[in-house]
Amino acid sequence: MGIRSHKSHRGKGRNGILWRLLSGLGTALGILWALPLTLFGILMALPILLWRGRMRMVRTPTPALLVSGPVADYMLEHHPFGSMCAMAIGHVVIEERNGLTLRILTHELAHVRQAAQWGIFFPFVYIAASGWARMHGQDAYWHNIFEVAARKAEKHN
Ligand SMILES: [Zn+2]
Repeated sequence: MGIRSHKSHRGKGRNGILWRLLSGLGTALGILWALPLTLFGILMALPILLWRGRMRMVRTPTPALLVSGPVADYMLEHHPFGSMCAMAIGHVVIEERNGLTLRILTHELAHVRQAAQWGIFFPFVYIAASGWARMHGQDAYWHNIFEVAARKAEKHN
């Protein structure tokens, strides 16, 4: 009995390592897949960082680079969907200078994961989802399925 339970414990441990490897691989593939978006995000982050900007890194649950500064505030205030607290572009999150609440960070990290899933197609499917909402007489932002999913993620935090 003692040996058996020991064995099953070891098996579990190995599964744990395998799972960690697979999820690490998934994260790496997601980063690669979202890379064109992230590069665009970095391009947007450059003027922010050059003018009294700051950056910080979030590792879990989703790796992301957060940038803020006066230029970020300006960009967020002039967002086409109206004033925003934050905006995710690939693995880059542009955030308000005051920082983000855990809830908003969770929301933005959900968008980072969406970008990792959809890769280069994400901006197109996002816009299509806004068009779909508008076609059905709904709000292009609020009823966008990606926004609905990100709001759902907020509540699970
Ligand atoms: Zn959102």
